[in-house]
Amino acid sequence: MIKLQNIQFGYRKGHNIFEDVTLAMEPGHVYGLLGKNGAGKTTLLKIMAGLRFPNAGTATILGENATLRKADVLNDIYFLQEEMYVPHVKIRQFVNAYAPFYPNFSEAQFDEYMRVLELQNETGFLDKLSHGQKKKVLIAFSLAANTSILFMDEPTNGLDIPSKSAFRQLMASVADDSRLVVISTHQVRDLHSLIDMVTILDNGHIVLNASTFDITDKLLFDVDNTKTAEGKLLYAEETPRGIYQVKTNDRHIDSSLDLELLFNAAMTDKESFYNLFK
Ligand code: ADP
Repeated sequence: MIKLQNIQFGYRKGHNIFEDVTLAMEPGHVYGLLGKNGAGKTTLLKIMAGLRFPNAGTATILGENATLRKADVLNDIYFLQEEMYVPHVKIRQFVNAYAPFYPNFSEAQFDEYMRVLELQNETGFLDKLSHGQKKKVLIAFSLAANTSILFMDEPTNGLDIPSKSAFRQLMASVADDSRLVVISTHQVRDLHSLIDMVTILDNGHIVLNASTFDITDKLLFDVDNTKTAEGKLLYAEETPRGIYQVKTNDRHIDSSLDLELLFNAAMTDKESFYNLFK
């Protein structure tokens, strides 16, 4: 559904962010695109969505070259940007103006999502809402657009704790076999229980692109070495609650994926991660 092949990109000549990125994303999954601030997550999403053009390599989305920006591709993808532009209009006017771009938009779903996000009584001007409220309106809109591909760039930034759980609840209800959702974030914890694919980007390289199933098959997440003494230790973190560890999972023992630990482990030993999952 999305294919990046040998992508090279830089905003300035001689300063490439990506030298040679190859990556495939398939429908029916929710990808968590993780990376530190400045790792290139937003840029990568923009290349996928045809908003930035690679210097070399090909970005294919829904079977078309992303740079062609074909109308029937653009109305089947939605990009919830981190920096939101909202016009000086009321919420209903916004929906009436923008929904026609998305043939599968459902106003009934939009109303329902607004209710879940506790915005059903909000009738004011969109640009006068708080940052978090604006974000929630656009989240409701992006989900109600029912596009085959949904990009969400740092969607939980600015959301309070109840809104973050409402967001997770909504996302769980909309994920289906035909949709591809890519959520980028540096707030790794917010994605817990939401994603089934993990893509880690660092310094212009894909360090990991694997399913959560594959990850827990290959890696063992342990506290205080209670699960097994076997396996190569890849990463350990001392916390007040014990020593958290990531080890190779040679005997395929069940453990729960800890995204934050995974991310820290991947940042510490990129080479091992790359080789383990390639
Ligand atoms: P992330 O989303 O992971 O925080 P970005 O894709 O926003 O990372 O940025 C990657 C790098 O590209 C950063 O060093 C950032 O400063 C730079 N960058 C982003 N947008 C622009 C731009 N419009 N012009 C020049 N440099 C940019």
